[in-house]
Amino acid sequence: MHRGNSAVGAQAVRGPEPRAPELEIPRFERGAVPMGVGKPQNNRPRAGLGFRVYKPKVNRVNREKLKVLYNDIVNYLLGITSELKGSKYLTYYAEEWERMYEEVKRQRERAGKRTLPKAPPLPLLVKFVMPDGSVRGDKSAPAVIDLRRGELRIPSYGVVQRLPRRLVEELIRENLLEPRPDFTLQVTRRGFLRLIASRYAPARVALPLRLICIDENSCNGEALGVWDVLKPGRIVRSRYEELMPRNRGFLDRTAALFQSAAAGKAEALEKVKKLLREAGKSEAEIAALLAPEKLAEIAASTREKEKRLNRAFAEELVSLVRKLVREAKERGWSVAIAIDPINAESLKGSELQRTLLKPRKLLRNLARYEGARFKLYRVSGKRCPNCGEIGVEVGHRRYRCPHCNIEWDRDKAATFWLAKRFLDEHFREECGDETYVDITGWLKQHPRGLL
Ligand SMILES: [Zn+2]
Repeated sequence: MHRGNSAVGAQAVRGPEPRAPELEIPRFERGAVPMGVGKPQNNRPRAGLGFRVYKPKVNRVNREKLKVLYNDIVNYLLGITSELKGSKYLTYYAEEWERMYEEVKRQRERAGKRTLPKAPPLPLLVKFVMPDGSVRGDKSAPAVIDLRRGELRIPSYGVVQRLPRRLVEELIRENLLEPRPDFTLQVTRRGFLRLIASRYAPARVALPLRLICIDENSCNGEALGVWDVLKPGRIVRSRYEELMPRNRGFLDRTAALFQSAAAGKAEALEKVKKLLREAGKSEAEIAALLAPEKLAEIAASTREKEKRLNRAFAEELVSLVRKLVREAKERGWSVAIAIDPINAESLKGSELQRTLLKPRKLLRNLARYEGARFKLYRVSGKRCPNCGEIGVEVGHRRYRCPHCNIEWDRDKAATFWLAKRFLDEHFREECGDETYVDITGWLKQHPRGLL
């Protein structure tokens, strides 16, 4: 039998999260990978892999067929049935699946649960038919993604699923990447599909270099500054913007308020009443809304809304950064992503910390997939970008240096410091004087550039 690579399996065991074998997003940390993501490329450590996950929609008819496929193969793997219908390549990742299943079982036992474990998704080999008719991926793969006709097929189970045009276009682009990602299709026990692309792209640091600098900021969203170092002495800031998840703080506070009102805290109840009056509710409506279960319901739906907005924000940020990285890579440039992580101590365990960590994790994964260097630095936008002295606050997030007498915006200065830290680390030590890259030169040419 054609079986999966055991080195892959050994790593994959650590991948799954105990209570949720059907992961939304594979775990990237600690070198863990989702199972069945193909063989390592260029013998690179798997910890260096980056992932993209696509979830093609599946119609009801196909879901039923996929459930049959899933059950057939899992029953065969568990020895419940002895005959396998269809291609033997359907069990290509058998070993990984079995190991993952055992691991899920063990973890449930350790957690003291006696019910049967939820069976993990089943990985399948997948190949692509490109628009010119050429085939990419393993020729004997039982699943086909036909990018010419815009459909996904698993012939042995009669599955033919139309794919949205946007996904088709994106998959064409992914298949043309150099190095090409590895693809695996996963079928979940509930008949859903997940396509996982994994890739290692080397991240060299040389000129020209695009530096994508992100300052995480609790109340003010994330500041993003892009510095293009074309050659020593020629630095351009090609973009600056502040990205703000909408209503983040407001929703968080509102949910907390309704939560404590639901718990019967008098002060919170008063505040809620006031809020509802201000919103123009009648006394009768207010009385109805003040029932504890009603308050808890509002708190929960507010949290849900906040989560949705945060997710949308993270996705937006990731797709913007990906666009910036690919734009530079197409020109043959190196790319680095430098982030100032918000002080985790002050936020320990808070909702906000989770929100901010998520984009950071997604960007680290993106850097691996796209071949960009990823760095975390602590910087302060309060420091003078020219001399490093702590500035004096002269306006809203605006500072002035007592020595140099220049003024700057704190968020813009933070992205400047991130770029400076990266350049100092990579070009001050490694290069001779001619190639010395100094971003302070940019500041001299643009004295009001950080205002
Ligand atoms: Zn100064």
